[in-house]
Amino acid sequence: MTDKIAFIGLGNMGGPMAVNLHKAGFAVTATDLSPAARAKVADEGVAVVATAAEALTGATVVISMLPASRHVEGLYLGDGLGATGSNPGLLATLPAGIRIIDCSTIAPASARKVAAAAEARGLSMIDAPVSGGTAGAAAGTLTFMVGGADACVEAARPFLQAMGRNIFHAGASGAGQVAKVCNNMLLAIHMIGSAEALNLGVNNGLDATVLSEIMKQSSGDNWSLQKYNPMPGVMDAVPASRGYSGGFGSDLMLKDLGLAEEAALASGSAIPLGGLARNLYAAHSAGGSGGLDFSSIIQLLRKREA
Ligand code: NAD
Repeated sequence: MTDKIAFIGLGNMGGPMAVNLHKAGFAVTATDLSPAARAKVADEGVAVVATAAEALTGATVVISMLPASRHVEGLYLGDGLGATGSNPGLLATLPAGIRIIDCSTIAPASARKVAAAAEARGLSMIDAPVSGGTAGAAAGTLTFMVGGADACVEAARPFLQAMGRNIFHAGASGAGQVAKVCNNMLLAIHMIGSAEALNLGVNNGLDATVLSEIMKQSSGDNWSLQKYNPMPGVMDAVPASRGYSGGFGSDLMLKDLGLAEEAALASGSAIPLGGLARNLYAAHSAGGSGGLDFSSIIQLLRKREA
């Protein structure tokens, strides 16, 4: 039987991921609550529908790419009120045998909860959050960090390969989310550190591009400098050079740093820099910048023009 994919969530990441599955020859029917997000993907030739229920007609695989835990739990588990609720959630309606791949970054506990509910209904579910940003989503070079049973991960491999280059099986259900939370905490820390160093150099008379090149060839090198420079004008095609639009929202990074704090509390781990990073993103968001790409954190440091 040919697989038919229902893709749910066509934002900055999900949109290009659905397009890559379509380009790889899979039958994809995609949906998003936002008509604008649906239109963008339809322009690339992907079949779009207005609701998840319509996308699921005849589907053998469901892939979701939603913002946070509450969206994923809401989609699959509904409002939790069972027969008396207005929304029973997708798990209540999906036929047995369907494979579910959730690529959203959510709490490990939330991923385990939804996967256990899926399993109780005879459905297989894996958590497969990604790294690589919107550029990686568009290029099909994402890294997947996967949690779930061996057989479910292997069955998902052809779909993940159409969207990414590296697929790591981190462990049992929820393990992909733990890996993702650790990675994003480190990403926030080196983005803030890179912003701090660039701002210090510029305030002391250096050219940001020259300083970036020096640090990229020195011991300060890191992914933020290599791929995602936060100082406007240093790199083309990064959010800093288009007013911090698109990319990975600061509010999403704040969410991920909150997940890191939850994981730290649950395990008694010290995350002093992760905690500071969360507070800096919370201040940035409170100042009205939550919708801007996460590299805009440099704006907290930069001197305002007189
Ligand atoms: P986004 O806000 O651009 O897109 C999320 C989309 O989900 C929106 O279009 C929204 O309308 C849709 N949506 C929400 N609830 C829905 C529902 N019930 N049914 C259908 N559609 C629904 O977010 P994004 O940047 O694409 O990120 C998605 C996930 O990927 C997040 O968990 C984020 O943390 C993670 N992530 C993002 C990046 C990045 O660079 N943007 C990188 C790695 C991981």
